[in-house]
Amino acid sequence: PAITNHLPTSELQALDAAHHMHPFTAGGELAAKGARVITRANGVFLHDSEGNEILDGMAGLWCVNIGYGRGELADVAARQMRELPYYNTFFQTTHVPAIALTQKIAELAPGDLNHVFFAGSGSEANDTNLRMVRTYWAIKGKPDKHIVISRKNAYHGSSVGSGSLGGMTAMHAQGGLPIPGIVHIDQPNWWAEGGSMSREEFGVSRAKQLEVAILEHGEDKVAAFIAEPIQGAGGVIIPPETYWPEIQRICDKYDILLIADEVICGFGRTGNWFGSQTLGIKPHIMTIAKGLSSGYQPIGGSIVCDEVAEVIGSGEFNHGYTYSGHPVAAAVALENLRILEEENVLDHVRDVAMPALHEMWHGLADHPLVGETTITGMMGSLALTPHKDSRAKFAMDAGTAGFMCRERCFANNLVMRHVYDRMVISPPLIITPDEIAEIGRRARTALDECY
Ligand code: PLP
Repeated sequence: PAITNHLPTSELQALDAAHHMHPFTAGGELAAKGARVITRANGVFLHDSEGNEILDGMAGLWCVNIGYGRGELADVAARQMRELPYYNTFFQTTHVPAIALTQKIAELAPGDLNHVFFAGSGSEANDTNLRMVRTYWAIKGKPDKHIVISRKNAYHGSSVGSGSLGGMTAMHAQGGLPIPGIVHIDQPNWWAEGGSMSREEFGVSRAKQLEVAILEHGEDKVAAFIAEPIQGAGGVIIPPETYWPEIQRICDKYDILLIADEVICGFGRTGNWFGSQTLGIKPHIMTIAKGLSSGYQPIGGSIVCDEVAEVIGSGEFNHGYTYSGHPVAAAVALENLRILEEENVLDHVRDVAMPALHEMWHGLADHPLVGETTITGMMGSLALTPHKDSRAKFAMDAGTAGFMCRERCFANNLVMRHVYDRMVISPPLIITPDEIAEIGRRARTALDECY
């Protein structure tokens, strides 16, 4: 029989287990218990094959910014597929969706970030960035300026290049990452690692690690620093206010290119179009993906400043992907940006969703298992701890408590993610105060069940 939503869940799970290798998953463990089958979605709700309605507190994977079920994007995709389903932008050709989308992105991006190099995902875009910054310095006569400094626990993607830029030890342990020429400094996680320092002191001291790394390797060897304005998959680590100004000063002083990975923070997540605006960063390159199309089509890219684009454009940049600037993905992304703009989604975030979400989130701080609640814009995290005052860690392996809490959330029809023992939230930007309150109720129930 055809494989459709009408098959019994157990049959779909068995077929899934037989042939589908899931990303970032222990396959055998999942096969034994069966993956939850998601059948459709609307607004902020997912539906599964058992008829449950699940509140998506993660906007998919931090990407469905306008929410599910927007038929306009489907219409645009169908129209574009009929008119021009595919053509490349490699060999002296272009097309209207790519022209229009680059125009729009250049208009939205701050400063002189006026140029876009397209990719199919955030990982690909960061691979592009790695090659682009090294190529930039080589063209400028400094081929030795090749080291890229990144941060521990950062997530920049899963390909060989972007996984190396990232600082996830579990990823580095598999498949020969990181590649040479990448250096990782500590993240600014004050709650867990600040010790007796004030937030402000800690922010400066963590930023100074960049200067130490530059001096250790030599200013003439370091090409760029890459970081997420707010580290997302690393546990929504919101840096102290002193952190980014010091990083910016150091990059400027030593002539280091600054890459802001805006894959999560971009397109409204922090309450502005880009996280760099919220955190006061002036990058030379921004990585984008996810919210660019609200996840309706796979598309990513690099937004590049005038100077870097001019240098890179002075010769042939031997780099690109078959799907760079894919016309259907570009048309869908453009429609997504139209909705974000014309429906004033950022105003909704700032005036309605953010205040409600922050109040709900900080309201969880009185729970005996919650050590810290922290949130900027529409992305937040809370630290689980067995003892608030001492910030103690659980006796179980790191991540076990977080995993249990995530499972209890899921059993209560709420998607929340855990990063070790931090719980993370990042709902669709169009979420209403009532839906936010419901997230709060389900999260508290899950916490109670873990206590
Ligand atoms: N950069 C950041 C900050 C991300 O959070 C992610 C994905 O979560 C990526 C890059 C990689 O994007 P993709 O999964 O589209 O390759």
